[in-house]
Amino acid sequence: MARLCSSTSSNSVFIWTCFCVLVASNLAEFPRIKHNTHRNDDSVAFLVVGDWGRDGNYNQSRVAKQMGEVGKKIGIDFVISTGDNFYDTGLKSVNDPRFETSFSKIYTAKSLQKPWYTVLGNHDYLGNTEAQLSPALRKMDNRWHCKRNFIVGAGYADIFFIDTNPFVNDYFINAKKQKFDWKGILPRENYLAAVRKDLDSALSKSRAPWKIVVGHHPMRSMGYHGDTREIVDQILPILEAHKVEMYINGHDHCLEHFSNRKGSMQFLTSGGGSKAWKNKFHYGVHNNASKQFYYDGQGFLSVKLISRDKGALVFYDVYGKPLYSIKVKA
Ligand SMILES: [Zn+2]
Repeated sequence: MARLCSSTSSNSVFIWTCFCVLVASNLAEFPRIKHNTHRNDDSVAFLVVGDWGRDGNYNQSRVAKQMGEVGKKIGIDFVISTGDNFYDTGLKSVNDPRFETSFSKIYTAKSLQKPWYTVLGNHDYLGNTEAQLSPALRKMDNRWHCKRNFIVGAGYADIFFIDTNPFVNDYFINAKKQKFDWKGILPRENYLAAVRKDLDSALSKSRAPWKIVVGHHPMRSMGYHGDTREIVDQILPILEAHKVEMYINGHDHCLEHFSNRKGSMQFLTSGGGSKAWKNKFHYGVHNNASKQFYYDGQGFLSVKLISRDKGALVFYDVYGKPLYSIKVKA
């Protein structure tokens, strides 16, 4: 359980964390990737970027360059993408040239030549989802690891990646002219029930000091889209029951941090990988959550888990300037 105890300034808050550590065991149905951090201890460092694939346009290339600089400075182990990987309509096939022009030829810095653990966003579902999920892409660029629901075990952390798209009612009942590729998802209610059950099971079996969940849609956001009611109702209670420390998402093209009222869970939006929506925000309801930080421009997030009870998060802008930092202590 990570606890938000005090705030020293608008740019810095301290989170106090206590942990119970038991014996590790197998995790449930989600496939698990063991990421070896090759360090003397189990510390982990990674970057998070979302909503990015636009052939380098809308400052995608500039954000990528700064990710390379920060990645080198903090010695990252991997990168997480929170989805909406290829605009506007995902990839057409595994041979779609946009895989190169929006990914391989954009994130070229040496420090970014690490695994990219990736979920799908709603724009990815407007293309051929199976193309992005296909191992064939890894033959073209061995960094690419994209699945619907999976776990990465890395040092002190278990990171649970979930596909939030099928939870959103509007994509089924109010899709307008958008054509979502729901192959592999239907019947929907069965799929959603399985995701909830498997996530609950996997979290209950995890003995990692840090439990982090990643999905595309926000639970708490004052960005353009705001909170996603369906996952607040269906996923958040599972995260709370298992004392997950962080939920990280994209979808809203901004950078933001909310915490729950108790300060025990952090909600982090990193959706500033390319086009931003300046001044498109709302204050919404945000029941049981309080805003710590909001920035309506481009950028990304770094996460360092220094020990089983200490970590640090930093949001950066398109110039690589640190905008906001959270220190974490046991
Ligand atoms: Zn989205």
